[in-house]
Amino acid sequence: MQEGCIFCGIVAGDVPSTTIAESENVVAFRDINPAAPVHVLLIPKAHVVSSAAELRAGHGELLGELFELAASIADAEGLEGTYRVIVNSGSGSGQTVFHLHFHLLGGWGRSGSFPKTLGDETGGVPVN
Ligand code: 5GP
Ligand code: ZN
Repeated sequence: MQEGCIFCGIVAGDVPSTTIAESENVVAFRDINPAAPVHVLLIPKAHVVSSAAELRAGHGELLGELFELAASIADAEGLEGTYRVIVNSGSGSGQTVFHLHFHLLGGWGRSGSFPKTLGDETGGVPVN
């Protein structure tokens, strides 16, 4: 737990969130400001690293667990294997919370409305 970290606060239950799934080392909750019809954040329960730039090969098992949970959430949300996973690293990329997290985005519909470029998810509002 890192002092002042809002996502550590969510894991600890000190900050309210809509948790929708968890595994041993990962928890998933809905983004407070959704940029897509389905917008879930997946985070390691521990404050392992602040951003993706600090990830190393030794984090492979944790990342596998995280992507497995993402896939099961996508199934539960009816996304049928169609979704994006985005990670911002560094404030210049739009990262605002410095506890590693992955955005699971989907639910744009199943008739060709998938956004072509990053940032089109909500008609031009950047995914951050
Ligand atoms: P970043 O911009 O760092 O990649 O993503 C941070 C995300 O966390 C943003 O999409 C923002 O809406 C979300 N967020 C920030 N604070 C909270 C919070 O207190 N609760 C939830 N559920 N999401 C949050
Ligand atoms: Zn944290």
